[in-house]
Amino acid sequence: MPDARPVTAAPPYDGGCACGQVRYRMTERPLFVHCCHCTRCQRETGGPFAHHVMIEFSHWAVTAGEPEFVLVPTDSGGKHWVARCPTCRTALWNEHGSRTAITRYVRVGTFDAPNAFPPRAHIYVRSKQEWVRLDDAVPAFRSHYDASKVWPADSLARYEAARALRAEQRRTAKAATPARSARPPTGSTGTAPPKSRRRTSP
Ligand SMILES: [Zn+2]
Ligand SMILES: [Zn+2]
Repeated sequence: MPDARPVTAAPPYDGGCACGQVRYRMTERPLFVHCCHCTRCQRETGGPFAHHVMIEFSHWAVTAGEPEFVLVPTDSGGKHWVARCPTCRTALWNEHGSRTAITRYVRVGTFDAPNAFPPRAHIYVRSKQEWVRLDDAVPAFRSHYDASKVWPADSLARYEAARALRAEQRRTAKAATPARSARPPTGSTGTAPPKSRRRTSP
């Protein structure tokens, strides 16, 4: 499927919260951009849909401040972490499944130049608010889409590379942890990431 509308501005892309305490930088073009019209996104954002840029963790950095992470339930029964400024509470991005997720779902309205990221798909349009008129040139899906069919090939390759990098980091971290056989395997630190739910897309 061809890109409906390519992202035009060149990286890096900066953004941040309303009070300016938390700032971030995205150092590569998005993997994908979509608008989600599901009822949960409507409730969470208070708007007609959530508008998200997806980017690998490896092209993402917090450049000022320290966000706090709030756990929020999703319609599919899972949970995602929402990064918020601890002072003004602006929600900046989501991390699905665990804090070691491959992708960040960044709220486009928090970029300094949000106009750079028109959506390449609309999803969950079955619950779209009726007054919202969509551009016929942008693919729309009743629920989710199959990323392997909708994302550009280079985005899929980047995602796989980021997944391999994350797996390697986990292996390295495991190898660096000294073995403590007397330690109980669960409930000791609470830092183990929750098991990622299997998802139909990255
Ligand atoms: Zn703030
Ligand atoms: Zn949604």
